[in-house]
Amino acid sequence: MVGLWRTEAYRRLATPLAEVLGAPTAKALVLLKLERVEDLMGHLPRRYLSGTETTELSGLEPGEDVALVAQVANMVAHPAHGGRGSRGRLELRLTDGTGHLRATFFGKDRYLKFWQLQLSRGVKGIFVGKISVFNGELQMSHPNFVMLDEHGTIVGRADETKTSMANRVSRSGLVGIYPATSKMPTWQIAECADLVLELLKGTDDPMPAELRSRLGLPEFYEAYESIHRPESIEAAELGVDRLKFDEALSLQVTMAYRRRDAANHTAASVTRRSDGLLAAFDQRLPFTLTDGQVEVGEEIFADLARTRPMQRLLQGEVGSGKTVVALRAMLAEVDSGRQAVLLAPTEVLAAQHFESLRSLLGDLGEGQVLGAPDDATEVVLVTGSQSAAQRRAALAAIADGRAGIIVGTHALLSETVSFADLGLIVVDEQHRFGVEQRAVLQSRADLVPHLLVMTATPIPRSIAMTVFGDLEVSTLREIPAGRQDVQTTVVQAKLRPGWLDRAWERIREEVSIGRQAFVVCPRISSNDEPVPDGLPDPSVEALYEYLADGPLAGLRLGVLHGRLAGGEKDSTMAAFASGDLDVLVATTVIEVGVDVPNASMMVIMDADHFGISQLHQLRGRVGRGGYPGVCLLVTYSDGTTDADRRLAAVAASRDGFELAEVDLEQRREGDVFGASQSGGRTTLKLLRVLDDAELLTESREIAEMLVARDPDKASDWLADMVTHTELRADADFLERS
Ligand code: ADP
Ligand code: MG
Repeated sequence: MVGLWRTEAYRRLATPLAEVLGAPTAKALVLLKLERVEDLMGHLPRRYLSGTETTELSGLEPGEDVALVAQVANMVAHPAHGGRGSRGRLELRLTDGTGHLRATFFGKDRYLKFWQLQLSRGVKGIFVGKISVFNGELQMSHPNFVMLDEHGTIVGRADETKTSMANRVSRSGLVGIYPATSKMPTWQIAECADLVLELLKGTDDPMPAELRSRLGLPEFYEAYESIHRPESIEAAELGVDRLKFDEALSLQVTMAYRRRDAANHTAASVTRRSDGLLAAFDQRLPFTLTDGQVEVGEEIFADLARTRPMQRLLQGEVGSGKTVVALRAMLAEVDSGRQAVLLAPTEVLAAQHFESLRSLLGDLGEGQVLGAPDDATEVVLVTGSQSAAQRRAALAAIADGRAGIIVGTHALLSETVSFADLGLIVVDEQHRFGVEQRAVLQSRADLVPHLLVMTATPIPRSIAMTVFGDLEVSTLREIPAGRQDVQTTVVQAKLRPGWLDRAWERIREEVSIGRQAFVVCPRISSNDEPVPDGLPDPSVEALYEYLADGPLAGLRLGVLHGRLAGGEKDSTMAAFASGDLDVLVATTVIEVGVDVPNASMMVIMDADHFGISQLHQLRGRVGRGGYPGVCLLVTYSDGTTDADRRLAAVAASRDGFELAEVDLEQRREGDVFGASQSGGRTTLKLLRVLDDAELLTESREIAEMLVARDPDKASDWLADMVTHTELRADADFLERS
């Protein structure tokens, strides 16, 4: 990556952690998704605790996280009374000369004995934990502790973790507690952060001092230091403000340059014909377009008629009919003698799109074969799992222009597919701004294709504006007539086990009248999560076995998840689509776009593990074929958590936009990119779109000004910000495709 960065700061931030910390440590950090210096520096403490330096027993407050140095004034063990497995209690009275505190350990007798032995060996100890109230008295339960001798040396064998804990809390007034893993506890993360800070020390701040002081933000190194070696909470917060601002500004600067680029680029203009493919298609459409579809269609045709590349985001509920809108735009493009490509996030979806475009087009999409209409074009599919011969044929048709409509995965653009004359790129179910489009922009100097991005994740308008600043937004709000209601019910399986059995019966009923059902599971294989007695393990593999041998015995069951080979996935999906399977037990691979109109029922296991938008998306897979749908949200929880309130909200509303607002409000960090819902990493790392809307707007103004002043990226700082944002967007992209 030599030569990628123009400033020392960005170069150092991009250093792999292995180079600074050594390979074994770096490996343990990878589990936390920390790979580069920047990742670790941006790994923010969840909270701060007061170190021993500043903590006195007399001044403790309930709820506080503290580390304190104290003597054990008194220790009483209360052995377990009951039979096997019952737990006893060890109670200590701690003192430091200023006050007292009760500390309690619970456990089996042999653990109590072990702790008792440990605790009595030193003259004093360091105790780390949270202050709670019990019977009106302050206490700590299960503190982490180490015992010290009269010289302050740790007594007995202390592992690395305990040693670094003791070091840190006794050295500092304030200690960051990081999100950690068992292999990489917070104390070691803090030590790593220390080492990395050494590397960054003395690096020049790439942000001009004048701007920084105007914004009242700390200097680059200072920001990191105040977060990871905190002197005060206020300073740490200011440090985070600086990081957030950097992130917001990078994003906005990148978008400002892109808007500039787009404005400077020329696209081929599309002239609408009354005698072409589009007209023929409209005429034979088996349904009437909704008003929304017509309206958005006009917006798109107006864009396509310009010589500036269209950059439009089309959002609409699952089932709102985005595909038809996109297809009409593609046909207009073909009518003008150019090609259009439709990109889907997965091969399964690409194949589905291919099939549905072909069936919508009929002989209009079969190419210039004997007897075909004059305008007919060819629709081709390009995927990685095709045979070499199929692929060669498709690529040839793309290169010589016979294929007017090309369907593939996002990967298509990064490959060396040569188009005869590509005029329009449609990206389906992609929530991020146009990374793919940029790839094409860079590869073509003369004419740039128009871009239409489609998403079913409803994004409140205000947010779409700030985040997708370089896209214009169209929205399909109504659902085509004939779409049926999906009756959604929460099934509290733990509280009412009978209901889950009833759910399986309900599937049998649907199947008996010729319908099909999805059973969605939160994971492929079982993990350590405990399953309540008498209920089935909700992983795909376990549940499939349970259902096949039990409640759904005799039905034709299939399994679909991401670990299956591509061919197997495709054939299972095809079997389900054609009705050769009754029930598909699957992970959320079916979340996006899968269209099987005959599927009328969905059971979502561990529904409380999913986010609101995701549940809504999943539910959109049923009720598509003119039959009323049923969606059962199964939870094993006790019915009292935030997650349960989410389920209630999903059951109560079918309006995706309304749900999106609820979602944002509930989480207050609505990750509109959907990645946090499925555990991935997002382009926006620290920023929360809702909370930080103001920051995004402010930084957008600053970005506009900076970019207007420096249109050619003469500034190393601006150049590095753009590189940084784009690399990260690419990384996100690769991770997800
Ligand atoms: P989306 O991609 O927005 O989730 P689709 O484009 O896949 O939705 O449309 C869902 C289904 O509705 C498809 O089977 C499609 O043919 C059908 N459809 C689209 N527009 C209409 C309409 N105006 N009237 C009736 N059915 C429609
Ligand atoms: Mg779709």
